[in-house]
Amino acid sequence: MNRCEQTQFELTNALAEGNLHTPAELQAHLRGCATCRQAWQEMRLTWRALGALTEEEVPAKLWQTTRARVLRELEREQANAESARVGKSALVSVTLGVVFSVASVWVLGQKSDLSAFSPQVLLSMGAAWAALYAVAVLLVMRGDSEARYGIAARWVGIAGLAAMGLSLALTGSCSIGQALDYCKMSPAMRHLFAGVQSQTQYFLLGSLYSLLPLLIASAIVGIKAPRRPVVLGLMAGGVFVALTLPAILLQCGAFSVGVSLSWIFGSVVGSLVGGPVGSLAGAALYRQLRPVHTGAGAAT
Ligand SMILES: [Zn+2]
Repeated sequence: MNRCEQTQFELTNALAEGNLHTPAELQAHLRGCATCRQAWQEMRLTWRALGALTEEEVPAKLWQTTRARVLRELEREQANAESARVGKSALVSVTLGVVFSVASVWVLGQKSDLSAFSPQVLLSMGAAWAALYAVAVLLVMRGDSEARYGIAARWVGIAGLAAMGLSLALTGSCSIGQALDYCKMSPAMRHLFAGVQSQTQYFLLGSLYSLLPLLIASAIVGIKAPRRPVVLGLMAGGVFVALTLPAILLQCGAFSVGVSLSWIFGSVVGSLVGGPVGSLAGAALYRQLRPVHTGAGAAT
């Protein structure tokens, strides 16, 4: 039973006891919830209408059926409100998904040549990316209940999206291609990279470019959601891998399959390491901060 169902159940009980005044403990919820307020108004109206009749005129049977009808009506309203909420979240997540996808393609377009792709391919990749973003946004919007594995899906979505934002910022300021060029220009790095195959280079840089954003995002989220950090980090890593896949494919336009796969594999490894390590660090930080917090509370 959620908060509204509980409230309306208690209101029905209050009415059944003949109490037309709003119970004090329910007033706060009614002030903030239009659905329950309206339900309470209708319940009282029905009750008054019934009350206009004398005791004998209200047979037990009628009272039973009316009560059942009022409860059914309330349930229907609940269901309507719920489907309206679902519809709204779907609309918001699809809109944000498209916005994020367009913004991401724009960032990548600044850094790599997307003309290797035909407009149709670009469009369908953009659409797939928008769908992935929409799912992540939906996780953030609807995943507030205490879910499976002891982690609210909301935090997984937030960590994945935040890591993706950081990753785009990183790529926007210095893409992997640019990073490799710098490495080749610097004499020391050139010496270091001389014997390394380009596939290995992309694997290493790919894992670094996933590890860093996830490390930061999971650490921040880990402070807010310190339970089960390893699971949280792995799940955030999974969301991030899905979100970052279109980015890698778009940047690998002219590359060989070997290089692309090495980059993707590096990204998966970086994500699965960065996520748990980041959220473990966040959870440790939470434990460090907590004694200070309660200490201050006790002092006042
Ligand atoms: Zn309510």
